[in-house]
Amino acid sequence: MLNPIRKFIEFGTHNSLSDDVNRRIRVVNMFSAVGMGLTFFLGLRALFAQDTLLACVLLSASILFAISHKIQSMIGAKQGSIISAMVIIVCLMSLMLILVITGGNAGTGPLWIFTVPPVTMFFTGFRRGLFALTGFITLVIVILFTPDNALLATEYSYEFKTRLIYSFITISFLSAFYEYSRQRSYSTALYLSEQFERQARYDPLTTILNRRGGQQQLEQEISRMQRNKKPFSIALADIDRFKSINDTFGHDAGDEVLKQVAEVFSRRLRTQDGLSRWGGEEFLFIFPETNEKDAQLVTEQIRENLSAKAISVDGKSHRVTSSFGVCEVTSLISLTTALNLADQALYRAKRDGRNKVCAASELTSKSNL
Ligand code: GH3
Ligand code: MG
Ligand code: MG
Repeated sequence: MLNPIRKFIEFGTHNSLSDDVNRRIRVVNMFSAVGMGLTFFLGLRALFAQDTLLACVLLSASILFAISHKIQSMIGAKQGSIISAMVIIVCLMSLMLILVITGGNAGTGPLWIFTVPPVTMFFTGFRRGLFALTGFITLVIVILFTPDNALLATEYSYEFKTRLIYSFITISFLSAFYEYSRQRSYSTALYLSEQFERQARYDPLTTILNRRGGQQQLEQEISRMQRNKKPFSIALADIDRFKSINDTFGHDAGDEVLKQVAEVFSRRLRTQDGLSRWGGEEFLFIFPETNEKDAQLVTEQIRENLSAKAISVDGKSHRVTSSFGVCEVTSLISLTTALNLADQALYRAKRDGRNKVCAASELTSKSNL
């Protein structure tokens, strides 16, 4: 019994859509179900009571509510949910105006207008909701207070009319306040989750991506390579004799050196290139759509930049160098293999005397000798 209801309410929602769009779709679905059922029932009652005009209005509203549910799937969830929300609001407001004018069943029709503020706020949000509600209540006031009841097909006491307006305004403000607080908490939650997401991907010391961020970048690059069939290259860098910097000048000085090295590395990169702190004093470069030879040239320049720059910490100048292992990633080798090859190339650069760039292809050609 619950499953079809859940299916109806979830109809059109999707993981790829934002939480707010999915929420709007669910509310549209829920409201179109309730609106459709209620207006259909009241429409049938009016039909049996031989109030043909009211019956026609209610049954047409029921059809419109049913259509609003379908619009979402016809136009596409995001746009569709906005259009169906508009259909629901226009339909609801028109229905309420007709009920106010005619008095509905035994003059009780206007009581339904209290459904308008929460529904309008739900669908349109705080600002547009206030706008729409102001327009609606203005129309109701004009209808109720036009001299000689010229716009009314029924009669209400003056007290009933004023209390209706006062209570409507009160409900409108409460709904607006609720929607405002909801939107604020939603934006705060969104901001916090973005901050957490950022913290999870970035390294606080160097402010570049951390290993997790680097891994995500690699995954993106792999899917790009699979799309455009162009290989890319990676380079692993490891600072030379970093332990001795720590041992001689202290861990804090070591941290400052890491920060400045990350800055030197980032400066030489093109906007599309990636850089992350892969481990303690290891960095990973990603060079999209770049073959190994070109990546080796860029890495060589990065190496030169670092070794040429005096890194100053606490008034003391340090010469810091790094070794690099470069490897091209193609669809023929796995990422793990590529990272392994880059690591081996880095090891070779260390063995060859440090402050060097070694490419993975040199490994095979050398080992083939
Ligand atoms: P090699 O040239 O062979 O790479 O020598 P190395 O001394 O750099 O290599 P090793 O891997 O032995 O030492 C790396 C050192 O980096 C050890 C560790 O204490 C230090 N380290 C790792 N992460 C950090 C960090 O966040 N801050 C500081 N200050 N030091 C770090
Ligand atoms: Mg190391
Ligand atoms: Mg090292």
